[in-house]
Amino acid sequence: MYNPKSLKAEEFIDDDEIKETLAYADANKDNFELIDSILEKAKRLKGLSHREASVLLACEDADRIEKMYALAEQIKKDFYGNRIVMFAPLYSSNYCINGCKYCPYHIANKHIARKKLTQEEIRKEVIALQDMGHKRLAIEAGEDPQNNPIEYILECIKTIYSIKHKNGAIRRVNVNIAATTVEEYRMLADAGIGTYILFQETYNKKSYEELHPYGPKSNYAYHTEAMDRAMEGGIDDVGLGVLFGLELYRYEFAGLLMHAEHLEAVHGVGPHTISVPRVKHADDIDPDTFDNGIDDDTFAKICALIRISVPYTGMIISTRESQQVREKVIRLGVSQISGASRTSVGGYYEPEPEEENSEQFDVSDKRTLDEVVKWLMELGYIPSFCTACYREGRTGDRFMSLCKSGQIQNCCHPNALMTLKEFLCDYASEDTRKIGEALIDAELANIPREKVREVCRENLMNIEKGMRDFRF
Ligand code: SAM
Repeated sequence: MYNPKSLKAEEFIDDDEIKETLAYADANKDNFELIDSILEKAKRLKGLSHREASVLLACEDADRIEKMYALAEQIKKDFYGNRIVMFAPLYSSNYCINGCKYCPYHIANKHIARKKLTQEEIRKEVIALQDMGHKRLAIEAGEDPQNNPIEYILECIKTIYSIKHKNGAIRRVNVNIAATTVEEYRMLADAGIGTYILFQETYNKKSYEELHPYGPKSNYAYHTEAMDRAMEGGIDDVGLGVLFGLELYRYEFAGLLMHAEHLEAVHGVGPHTISVPRVKHADDIDPDTFDNGIDDDTFAKICALIRISVPYTGMIISTRESQQVREKVIRLGVSQISGASRTSVGGYYEPEPEEENSEQFDVSDKRTLDEVVKWLMELGYIPSFCTACYREGRTGDRFMSLCKSGQIQNCCHPNALMTLKEFLCDYASEDTRKIGEALIDAELANIPREKVREVCRENLMNIEKGMRDFRF
């Protein structure tokens, strides 16, 4: 029985509800009157239900799809302006006892190099990341209670936060580790993490069980209910995602929005972010073995519809996607991207030798952070290294109220400019710096409140003199 308020996975992600939603979407995909009314509702920035959004996803009318794209672009501009937040993943260990069929970490894979970073190696990786200019990391690990217990993850987080190399600092550590207990989530919250990220992989229980034949991750309900436990443990910001390609995308899309609705219904706050990874080639993994791959146009449509369905939720795109695809979906609603990522365990400090491959998947966008920053600015975006919100206690519903009150432009905008300025002073190439300085000059004018503009201008001068870490 479908019930968004239930704490049982099979009730808030009810299979019958998804199937009925897809049937409703099919029946109405040419119902232009309904589609236009849904688009009108989306324009009012109140978001869409999974049923409404599924109708738009099913619609094949070219004019209306263009309208969806235009609306997504508009909403993205209204909520996120032209800022794009930057981050990098840090793989700490690929030891894993699960059997995930799409992931090279699965325990039966005997040819992948198994690695676990020591604290000294973490230190070297973090310094290498700081030297590129990163301020925000996502720590990633396989699931292995013996090799990667929570104490190991906590130690890594502590190490990461403790390193201050030259002007560098990692100011926000997000965590992408396997589903765990309320008690362990509380430990992560106490360690000062940013977002807890966990991809559902697939919302279809039957497929989920086939794709995760053994190991702790094989328990669909335990995995699907993880975000509720995380929130119970005091983590305010959680990040959802599905791995597109495993199951029918329309099923996943409805499930993802139902999960967001569930979090809103139970905890009063939706997900902080949604990630949209697609299955990639990896050691022992051929993406063509999965029948549900989606083309770039469908992928773009999904991103645009996530943007208009949950306007207050950030959207993340990784280097799994090429420069070209990233360019398209950033315009349609993505607010956060990774840059210069390595998916190997170690590899930032020193590239890993070819015969020792520990990567999780192939990366498509292989550019340096400086190149990515320059590219974004040339496209008219402000790369932001801001981490202010959670450090100022603006998490969960407090972040949402900042969005809803329209104060983002007086807060996130100057923060983006100041952190970009730090990047330009400390890490950028000459070319990037020139483009960035001109961009900051022009963008200062877009801070609405005069007082904030003045303080920001002053801070920018202080950054030039060597001071760091200003924030609103
Ligand atoms: N082990 C943790 C878990 O089970 O959630 C951490 C996640 S793992 C380090 C990060 C994510 O990478 C997974 O949730 C999965 O969606 C994604 N992933 C795994 N194999 C992949 C592949 N072949 N291509 C693209 N993404 C993949």
